[in-house]
Amino acid sequence: MSVYRPSFKTKNVMNKDKFCQSCSMPLKGTHLYGTEKDGSPSLDYCIYCYKNGAFTDPDLTLDQMRHCMIRKMDSAMVPEDIIEAAINRLPGLKRWADTTKQPKR
Ligand SMILES: [Zn+2]
Repeated sequence: MSVYRPSFKTKNVMNKDKFCQSCSMPLKGTHLYGTEKDGSPSLDYCIYCYKNGAFTDPDLTLDQMRHCMIRKMDSAMVPEDIIEAAINRLPGLKRWADTTKQPKR
């Protein structure tokens, strides 16, 4: 009879990619995490979108973010289908979830 021994649990859920909840950039490493007011890492946003507890560009709209991302990823030679997937992910992100609920224009 074998005794069930729990194996060591992996500390982080690394198989689940974390994305910035603003620009959908993959958060691959803590150096990419944004920072809260007290300097602790934000687990939702990247360093480019979120610093010291606030968005670096608080007036940015979802549309602007879209254009900005396409430009950025295009110049980084990101394949089109990846860009499209990232763009499609945007409206579901935390930062934009509220804005997409309201009728635009
Ligand atoms: Zn971001």
